Amino acid sequence: MGTRRRSFWGWGWEDAALAPDQQTALAAALSVRFEREIDVASAPELDGIVLPPPRLAPPPSLAPVCSQDPHDRAGHTYGKGYRDVVRGFRGEFPHPPDVVAFPASEAEVASVLDWCSSEGAAAVPYGGGSSVVGGVECTGDGYAGVVSVDLSRLASVLEIDRASRAARIQAGVYGPALEDQLRPHGLTLRHFPQSFEFSTLGGWLATRSGGHYATNMTYIDDFVECLRVVTPAGVCESRRLPGSGAGPSPDRMFLGSEGTLGVITEAWVRLQDRPRWRASAGVRFPTFERGVEAARAVAQAGLYPANCRLLDAGEAATSAGVGDGSALLVLGFESADHAVDAWMARGLECCADHGGLVPEGVRSSGPSPPGGHDSRAGGGAVDTWRGAFLRAQYGRDALISMAMIAETFETATTWSAFPTLHAEVRQTVERSLAEVCGAGTVTCRFTHLYPDGPAPYFTIVAPGRRGSELAQWDEIKAAASDAVLAHGGTITHHHAVGRDHRAWYDRQRPAPFAEALRAAKRALDPAGVLNPGVLIDPLPRV
Ligand SMILES: Cc1cc2nc3c(=O)[nH]c(=O)nc-3n(C[C@H](O)[C@H](O)[C@H](O)COP(=O)(O)OP(=O)(O)OC[C@H]3O[C@@H](n4cnc5c(N)ncnc54)[C@H](O)[C@@H]3O)c2cc1C
Repeated sequence: MGTRRRSFWGWGWEDAALAPDQQTALAAALSVRFEREIDVASAPELDGIVLPPPRLAPPPSLAPVCSQDPHDRAGHTYGKGYRDVVRGFRGEFPHPPDVVAFPASEAEVASVLDWCSSEGAAAVPYGGGSSVVGGVECTGDGYAGVVSVDLSRLASVLEIDRASRAARIQAGVYGPALEDQLRPHGLTLRHFPQSFEFSTLGGWLATRSGGHYATNMTYIDDFVECLRVVTPAGVCESRRLPGSGAGPSPDRMFLGSEGTLGVITEAWVRLQDRPRWRASAGVRFPTFERGVEAARAVAQAGLYPANCRLLDAGEAATSAGVGDGSALLVLGFESADHAVDAWMARGLECCADHGGLVPEGVRSSGPSPPGGHDSRAGGGAVDTWRGAFLRAQYGRDALISMAMIAETFETATTWSAFPTLHAEVRQTVERSLAEVCGAGTVTCRFTHLYPDGPAPYFTIVAPGRRGSELAQWDEIKAAASDAVLAHGGTITHHHAVGRDHRAWYDRQRPAPFAEALRAAKRALDPAGVLNPGVLIDPLPRV
């Protein structure tokens, strides 16, 4: 990852944080918006952090690939959810991992797991640490200690099968390095979660991440030909196939297993040619409801747009600069094979049927030379939205320094259930914000669309009370999660379960399935060392 250093408490690079004058300007704007004094506190320095001494040390054979350096231990303590960044900002690190292991081969991964199993230490697989659900945070209660197993040294594209358009890739590779290795071949995985820069292929697989594209192959699952997983019981490798009806899929068992069943070390994934034609448009609707109808029409028309992101008026105003109270549908098409104007024209017809207007017109580009290009068609509200989307997390770190509550939650439901879910969740959250914070906003956008329903994504911004923000957020989040489940949603469309969603996940999943998962865990991880507390309760230890 070069010489730049990752922040040990917040998002991304230390040197990319908002500058002091930007923070002051933001605090001033928020003071006006929420009619109260909002001040900026200083970020923590590593020298000022007291970490508890490590409870265990690596054996000599693993010492060369292990670290107990304070920056590594602090930086691997939390993921990047709101609760994580608040605690990191306060300098609270009561349960850092005792050891951070950086295995450089599959054999070293196996040795680390063997050591953890024999020592009774918890082993927490770690990709980019961008979990927003407590997926990499482990107190190690009842264990001899905690070992964070950082996969970042397993970062290569090992093989490319051009004819089948697939590649064998190591799991610890970060998004940009993965694409850099595919680009010379004119290929792309084309899976871009918002956390792309600081998350890994293994993390995407282990959490069943959702990429940036709104329809058609939204989940990383859709790209998997086969997986290679190191478990304490041995290596599990599935057969590389474009499809297979041979019983329940072994890959499906490990996809979304969140580090509880094994460490994913490699995957063969399906690739795509790089897009050469693009078109995008910002479609405005007088109401969110009309935008919802248009989004459904597009999703059910078989057009499969790359982007079809509906922003409600609040979100369109804050992140796309739309000031006239309209809802905004960011509609985009891409192809490596053909011009997309006809698809865009039909998509806009669907929108026009529901009152959609395109004041800034359609931007289209292509064909670019074979191998594609990285520039995107866009402009106006679409570009403003994209820029805000990519810088959002640095902004959130700044909001946290101002004791603001700033977090998102997401779900998916059917089109028929959506209107009630949306109304009830909004109402619940607005009531909770008024009670808990005295003010605050909740906005909604669609991140993914399916012919049978959308994945709505809610963003909350509210002034917190410095020192009480976590308790305040926990109350709002519990109310929101209860409402989501009560009205037919899932506790998560793509953020995963981790430790933070456990209570709701337990209510959502069928009991016999939970028992089957526990049985799988007993078979693959008999000592119960892998990421205890995620998906299921820690097993009684052998
Ligand atoms: C700003 C921001 C934007 C985000 N945007 C998106 C988004 O667009 N779409 C989305 O789906 N999610 C998003 N997320 C959530 C997060 O990025 C995803 O869950 C991502 O897949 C995690 O990848 P990671 O490499 O950072 O994994 P980590 O956070 O390190 O780990 C996540 C979980 O996977 C396990 N794990 C990691 N690597 C392995 C491995 N090799 N083998 C077995 N288990 C492993 C860990 O133990 C943990 O349980 C976002 C998060 C942030 C902070």
